Amino acid sequence: MKEDIVIIGAGLVGSLLGIYLVREGYKVTVYEGRGDRRLEGAAAGRSINLALSDRGIKALEKVGVMKEVQDICIPMHGRGVHLADGKYTEQAYGTRGQFINSVSRGELNNILMNIAERNGVQFVFEHRCKKIDWNTNTIHFNDHKGAITEKKADLIFGADGAFSASRLTYQLQHDRFNYNQFFISHGYKELTIPSGENGSFLIEKNVLHIWPRGTYMLIALPNMDGSFTCTLFFPFEGDNSFASLHTAEKVKSFFEKEFTDVEKLMPNLCEDFFNNPTASLVTVKCFPWIHEDKFALIGDAAHAMVPFFGQGMNCGFEDCSVLHEIMQANKGDWKTILQQYQELRKPDGDAISDLALANFVEMRDKVADTKFIAQKKLEAQFHAKYPEKWIPAYSMVTFSPEMRYSTALQKGIEQQRIMDKVMGDKEEDILTAEIEEAILKEIN
Ligand code: FAD
Repeated sequence: MKEDIVIIGAGLVGSLLGIYLVREGYKVTVYEGRGDRRLEGAAAGRSINLALSDRGIKALEKVGVMKEVQDICIPMHGRGVHLADGKYTEQAYGTRGQFINSVSRGELNNILMNIAERNGVQFVFEHRCKKIDWNTNTIHFNDHKGAITEKKADLIFGADGAFSASRLTYQLQHDRFNYNQFFISHGYKELTIPSGENGSFLIEKNVLHIWPRGTYMLIALPNMDGSFTCTLFFPFEGDNSFASLHTAEKVKSFFEKEFTDVEKLMPNLCEDFFNNPTASLVTVKCFPWIHEDKFALIGDAAHAMVPFFGQGMNCGFEDCSVLHEIMQANKGDWKTILQQYQELRKPDGDAISDLALANFVEMRDKVADTKFIAQKKLEAQFHAKYPEKWIPAYSMVTFSPEMRYSTALQKGIEQQRIMDKVMGDKEEDILTAEIEEAILKEIN
């Protein structure tokens, strides 16, 4: 039995993993590089939200924490698409009753840390992992004063995010560690639509808003206080880019022209634009994720992805629940547990990373394309008639937690091949008997 488990990183995944492990009777300590965010009052900062969907929910439900998380969820039933000509349309994400949820990242993290602590997980803050000595399984930390402390552990999880120090120290000390880091040419910046009077929502509350503009886009997710957190995904360089919008006048006139309806709702647009950081977007793939029975990467540390499928956190939560299933089947045999965890999750991490990159084009461009919209309508009708034969790609990833990401990727590619072949250049959005037959012929 591993006595002493250390998790590096008290983010979303590290905190949930702590709950899973402590419930299995392990002594769990989580070391976090930053201070305790609960004491620092996250509310004082910007409110940043993310989309929680079925895979993440399933992992939260498994340890009974979804009940508390439910209180901070705002359902989003579909996309609210704001076209360049001023038209607004809504596209349902799935069938009736299927939705994703907008949650505050900070509040979700606090809830998970509180539950972990109540269950016996110990948190140590302001301890930044610097390196791991693999011979003795000792982690070296710098505390907030720069002093070095050491901690020996039976088993270490690296849950320290996309720029993981535990991954780096592993990479530097081991032969044949594959590492691939890919930045896209776009970055992102968070902006805000404040609430209206008495905390009212100034645009539709229960959708994920998108302003698709071809090579870039703006999105907005609702917050509990009536405000929306908007994210501009925009090229770093070029004619319309973060580099070119370098004065308040340029920002304002660009938004007036490109995002006319929303610009009016952003009184602090220019302050936000110049005060909030411009952040980059990275995909990280690496292998191996584990070292013997002593170390494993999890969450973004194992598979950072761009946010266009809203799955990074959901995938990290699913890592925890899959790991837990393997733990239960191999009681205490951590060599087998980690091996199986890696074998199962690495292909799925790769698959959702690839799907996330592809979905950028879908969100910023295709959701405004009439052929794409027609195809989605056709697929929805075919799915309603033959649910066991066809699940739209978005639904396989978002609403089918029993299906592996790698299976969703393969099936999605095959379904797109069938659609391209059956429809060609046609923009039909009614499932005629002829189209139905042609699809069935391709499937069978
Ligand atoms: P993190 O959340 O990065 O947490 C890592 C923790 O480790 C942090 O607390 C950090 O302080 C700590 N740490 C770092 N280095 C060290 C060190 N050396 N020593 C000790 N501690 C350390 N996902 C979704 O599912 N849905 C979404 O809608 C969504 N939207 C997103 C939008 C944007 C703009 C971005 C950038 C990401 C989005 N994601 C989304 C992805 C999601 O944010 C991540 O997948 C998720 O935060 C990963 O959790 P994590 O715990 O693995 O890493």
